[in-house]
This record gives sequence, structure tokens and C-alpha cells, in this order.
Amino acid sequence: MTTHYNFIDGEWAPSDSGELFENRNPARRDHLIGTFQKSSARDVERAIDAAARAYSTWRLVPAPRRAEMLFRAAQLVAERKESFARDMTCEMGKVLDETRGDVQEAIDMTFFMAGEGRRQYGQTVPSELRDKFAMSIRQPLGVCAVITPWNFPMAIPSWKIIPALICGNTVVFKPATHTPLSAVNFVKVLEEAGVPRGVVNLVTGGGEEVGSALSASNAVRVVSFTGSTEVGRTVAQKTAPSFKKVHLEMGGKNVVIVMADADLDLAIEGCLWGGFGTTGQRCTAASRVVVHEGVYRDFVGRFVARARALRVGDGLDPATQMGPSISREQLETVMAYVEIGRAEGARLACGGHALESAEHASGYFHEPTIFADVGPRMRIAQEEIFGPVVSVIPCRSFDEGVAIGNDVPYGLSASIYTQDLNQAFRAMRDLDTGIFYVNAPTIGAEVHLPFGGTKATGNGHREAGTAALDVFSEWKSVYVDFSGRLQRAQIDTADV
Ligand code: NAD
Repeated sequence: MTTHYNFIDGEWAPSDSGELFENRNPARRDHLIGTFQKSSARDVERAIDAAARAYSTWRLVPAPRRAEMLFRAAQLVAERKESFARDMTCEMGKVLDETRGDVQEAIDMTFFMAGEGRRQYGQTVPSELRDKFAMSIRQPLGVCAVITPWNFPMAIPSWKIIPALICGNTVVFKPATHTPLSAVNFVKVLEEAGVPRGVVNLVTGGGEEVGSALSASNAVRVVSFTGSTEVGRTVAQKTAPSFKKVHLEMGGKNVVIVMADADLDLAIEGCLWGGFGTTGQRCTAASRVVVHEGVYRDFVGRFVARARALRVGDGLDPATQMGPSISREQLETVMAYVEIGRAEGARLACGGHALESAEHASGYFHEPTIFADVGPRMRIAQEEIFGPVVSVIPCRSFDEGVAIGNDVPYGLSASIYTQDLNQAFRAMRDLDTGIFYVNAPTIGAEVHLPFGGTKATGNGHREAGTAALDVFSEWKSVYVDFSGRLQRAQIDTADV
């Protein structure tokens, strides 16, 4: 059993608090993965100071040179992909195929953003005055706080840390308390790739102590947060007095619409992957399926049969298709929503229980669960459950399907299964989400496109793609007057 440390100003060191917390495997609670620093506000202050000092030199390193370090980092992650994936499965439970995908996403993001080292394009435009040059350039902002959830322990940190670095910022990274090992693995790679001391700092510990201190600090210029809408709101409130830039990626209640002309085999495959992949613990999970009445009965029967057959267990076992919930609290939340669904009058079509056999007793396992005949305004159709629970809702028409799809507080991802091109394009236009799929489930984002959502999912920013550069840089417009005289914009208009 290893004790892991914070990484501040290039040193791996214990917290000022002298306290530790345990990281245990949610599939096998007797497996203690390691202990980590339960950091204090004082640790956060030291990390911010280190990042602020490092910023003064890092911002002046040419972006293509910064990129060379990131290319190296991407290669190192690729070399260690299998061991990082296994660590991740142990600390948060998703199956190995998915944790390999998570690490791959960090590799892809790091390569993609390293490429941006030579591509941070601005604009050069004609001036309205003679002998005057006009352009816009990207500028870094300073110290960026990165606060991340546990469900994508390496991918999501990479979406934030790497674009922050390529733009010339420095970082204080606070990972989720359930997944500090993947954070340590990623930061060690950055250190090894030659990222200078103080440029990336890691402070592990609780949201209240570490996350709050980062949000409130006047020395932090950007907070990039991914997590629940509830905590995101707190972060927004804490950051508001200092007018720092806040980037929020929050909850979802994503919908798959299955039309009567859909390829049902394909739709069912997609709904299984979208609903039960990562045990339903994805922000983009397909937790609602709206099905046209023409195929409703057929769809529900076949979807339920496939869900019942899913093998639930330890994600390290290659035969496992669905892992555990992350924690006892999350499992209890799932169980509570099953009761809520029943009480609301939805039909429990399969699942509905925690798994307690000998194989499952030491983890937080729950059956894949499907509610059918769900009303669109029921709580199980409106609230993010973050577990293996899918609500199937009947609809009578395309328009009704789209209206149900939009009738939730969130706006992350949506999808439609149809063979009708006109319907597909109308749905693409009319569903109020940041991500949309045709004939594919609600999950499967790629790193070079913008990622994020509308309404209670986000606050207007996007990560991934070149859109992420807008979070971690600010535009500066530059005018160079080489006329040798005072020229007044908007006034000296007659001087042609
Ligand atoms: P969470 O909100 O509980 O925690 C997220 C992070 O915030 C953690 O690091 C946590 O320690 C920290 N935190 C907690 N309290 C804080 C505070 N007061 N101030 C600052 N930071 C604080 O979320 P979670 O349980 O880790 O993750 C699940 C949630 O994340 C779900 O709602 C899911 O939809 C969302 N999520 C969203 C996206 C997206 O891109 N939209 C992606 C993944 C997960």
C-alpha cells in the first residue's frame, strides 16, 4: 500500500494538514489502493503561489517549445496505457475496455493540443486608416484551477490541463477524491516530459477544503470545473466576486429518440451502450429513451432482454460488461430512485435491486434497470440519477418526441435513430443540446470537436477542439500605427 503526495512547485510532498484519505476499489472494498493527502487551504495557497511564480517564465516559452513537452507526455501516456487503465479500473470500477478508452482520450487530447502549439491563429485585418496594421492575438491568463469529477479520471483532466498549458497558463489541479491515483499518474508523466517546476501542481483532497479555496482565490484567473450542477452553482457563486473566468461542465439527462422507421437492432445496441456503459455514470449517459408507439412494445421487450443478460462484476475481469457504482452513497442514490420510479407509477421492466451474491457482496453493484411507461415529467425522467437506470418513454409522433427530449433542465447530448434524413436534420436543429448524434447513442465524443452543453449543463463555454483555447486564453487586439501622425479612428474618415 503506497502513500501518495501532493505535487507543488516541482516537489512531491505531504499536506500541511498531516492528514490522509483512503482510496478503495468500489468492486472490492477490501482492496485499499493507496492513501492520499487530505490537503488544506494552506496547501492550495502554496500551490497557487508556485503556479503564479512559474507563470512569469512559462508564458514566455514559445508555444511550439511547450508543445514539444506535451508531445513527449502523450507518448509516455501511450506507453503506459495498459497500466494506467488497470489503475483506473481499480479505483473507479469501469471495465478495462472503457478505462483504456479513457486513457486513449487523454493521449488523443494531448497530441491534438500539442499540435495547437503551432496553430494559435489570430486575425490580421485591414485597418480603416492609412499606414496602420491591425491584428488579434491570443494571450494566456495566468493561474488556472482545474477541478474534475471521478467518472473520466484521466480524460477530463487532460481536456483542461493540456489546453491551459499550450496557451501558456500554469495549473493547480484538484482531482476527485475517488480517483486521485489516475491524477498522480498523469501529473508524473507531465513532470517526466519536462514541464518545468510550478507549471503544473496537484493538490488532492475534499471539495469543500481544496475546491472552495481554489474558487475563492483572487490569484486564480480561470476555474475550469466539471462535476454536478449543484456543485457547479456553488463554484459559480464563489468565483463571481473576483470576476474570474469560470468554465462549468455539469450534469445531463440525455435522450435517445427511436422513431418507428429505425433499425431497431442498432437502436437497442446503442441504448445498451449509452445507458449502461460506465454503469450509467457518464454525463452523456442515455438515461432516457423516447420510443415511437409504432415500435414501442417490440423495442421494450428486446431492450429488456439484452439488459438482463449484461454481466455485472469486477471491471478487471474481461467477461464483465458493467462494473460497480462508484460508492455506497451513489448505490443508495440509485436504490432511492428505483423506489421513486415505482412510487410514481412507472413500470419496472427489469432490474431494480442491488446485487448481493458472493461475487458482488464486497462491491457496490446494482442490476441494470429499465423503467417502461415512464411519464416525461416523472422525477426519474427529469433528474440525473448517475447509475444504471434507463427510463423508456412512449411518444406518438416526431414532434412529441422532440418536445419530450427538450423538456428537461439539462442540455448535454441527444440522439435520434431514424432512416428518414429529413427527420434526422430536423432533430439535429431542434434538440437543445451541445452534442447530437444520428443513428448512434448519446456518448462517443471525439477530442477535436467542441464538447459541452446548454441550460443547466453548462455556462456557454466548450471544452475540447479549438473551442477549448477560448477558455484558456484571452483575445488582445493590437494596432500598430506607422503613419507618424495622430490618426483618429471613426473621425478622420475623409482622409482617404
Ligand atoms: P461533484 O460535483 O460531486 O464533484 C466534482 C468535483 O468538484 C470534485 O473534484 C469535487 O471534490 C469538487 N467539489 C466538491 N465540492 C466542491 C466545492 N464546494 N467547491 C469546489 N469544488 C468542489 O461531481 P462528481 O460526483 O465527481 O461527478 C459526477 C457529476 O459530474 C455528474 O453530475 C456528471 O453529469 C458530471 N459530469 C459532467 C461532465 C460534463 O462534461 N458535462 C462530464 C463528467 C461528469
